[in-house]
Amino acid sequence: MTRREFLASLASASAAALPAAPLPFHSVLVHEHVLVDFRGPTTPPGGYDPDVVFTIAKPHLDAVYKLGCRRFQDCTPNYLGRNPRLLARLADATGLEIWTNTGLYAARNHQFLPDFAKAESAGQLAKRWVAEWKNGVDGMKPKFVKIGVNRGPLPELDKKIVRAAALCSKDTGLTVVSHTGNGVAAMEEIEIFQKERVDLAKFVWVHAGVEKDHQFHQRAAKAGAWVEFDSISPAALAWHKECVEYMAGQNLLSRVLISQDAGYYRPGEPGGGKFRPYSVIYEQFLPTLKAEWRKTLMLDNPLLAFGGSIL
Ligand SMILES: [Zn+2]
Repeated sequence: MTRREFLASLASASAAALPAAPLPFHSVLVHEHVLVDFRGPTTPPGGYDPDVVFTIAKPHLDAVYKLGCRRFQDCTPNYLGRNPRLLARLADATGLEIWTNTGLYAARNHQFLPDFAKAESAGQLAKRWVAEWKNGVDGMKPKFVKIGVNRGPLPELDKKIVRAAALCSKDTGLTVVSHTGNGVAAMEEIEIFQKERVDLAKFVWVHAGVEKDHQFHQRAAKAGAWVEFDSISPAALAWHKECVEYMAGQNLLSRVLISQDAGYYRPGEPGGGKFRPYSVIYEQFLPTLKAEWRKTLMLDNPLLAFGGSIL
């Protein structure tokens, strides 16, 4: 170990041991979940007690509010338990701005797609999502489009969902976040956006960390898309740090988003399963990064990618 490595190891060890100090700015969690229902396509959501989910999720949301989080983007799609009423209650109770989304999830081999998604054209699906954006869902207006696709090469049905999202973005200005199986699929999504002439600044490659080849990350960012490393957890700190450092080394930090895909209550599991806290990114990940990157990743980039403002 060189002297420099030794000092770096001391610095990161002490950072990990210290209680996290709140960041000197407010921040956004771009990809988290309060609840995900993997039992099968359900809308409206049901089969669980929302009061129980409220009671379990609230302390985790309070914890990140104390650490400076002011906006929480809930990425649970329609037919997987999206529940704007529950999100609105939690927003009122915690002071957090909580966002929901419109769109459909074709990942996991289409099992969460309703029949109309197979029958309708991209234009028809886009119209449904534009209507949700205009009229709101259960009193809450979706502020981004959330879709999901499988690994590439993408099936036609997945491509149609991506095209629908691009059309919806064109009409509404909403940013599209796409759960994406791998780098090959991400490149196909980027091509569809380019073909539909939608600015790639409106496209977020979700779960980019699943792809281990950094060449894909670099290509997506250079094309203008957002590359989201969003599965930060105590067991995956080193890999996410490597991804962020790689992108910084390529001068592409301005295209990177980070988050945790954490939570969440799982209806059907005893007690809702194991709820992963939202505070890990503040307590264990950000302290290991260069101080000057933290605001870029936790505030500036989220606002550029999704709009809105944070006081
Ligand atoms: Zn997610």
